[in-house]
Amino acid sequence: MNKRKELTMDKLREYLDKKNIHPSYHRLKILKYLMEHKTHPTVDMIYKDLSKEIATLSKTTIYNTLSLFLKEGIISCLTIDENKIMYDYNTKPHVHFICIKCGCVYDIHLKCPIFDKEIIEGHKITEYHIYLKGICKECLKNA
Ligand SMILES: [Zn+2]
Ligand SMILES: [Zn+2]
Repeated sequence: MNKRKELTMDKLREYLDKKNIHPSYHRLKILKYLMEHKTHPTVDMIYKDLSKEIATLSKTTIYNTLSLFLKEGIISCLTIDENKIMYDYNTKPHVHFICIKCGCVYDIHLKCPIFDKEIIEGHKITEYHIYLKGICKECLKNA
């Protein structure tokens, strides 16, 4: 392992420590994966990639780790398709774009005025889930 990589793991370890989450090897690896893969991966996708590197990793461990991260507010998740939970390292409210052709989910870097509001028409907002559907730029290119 090179020095730069170790530094990142140290930073992540510190970060989890601050959040009072025991920084186990599996937890660190899963958090690092989410930071590096901003494609809103599912448990299956994370498992497919990380199990190549970590033989002891199970889907249950990934699921439990992500549930803990969610509870502590260090990640967010998308449940647009109720059978497919996608995890997101970005916890700030942001708009998503879902491609109806390839299923890819993109972050839309457009400030939505709704995100500034905590109360809308008397209702208190606790979560923001806004998504657009269509054909992504990659699929448009290949059409
Ligand atoms: Zn697409
Ligand atoms: Zn996102």
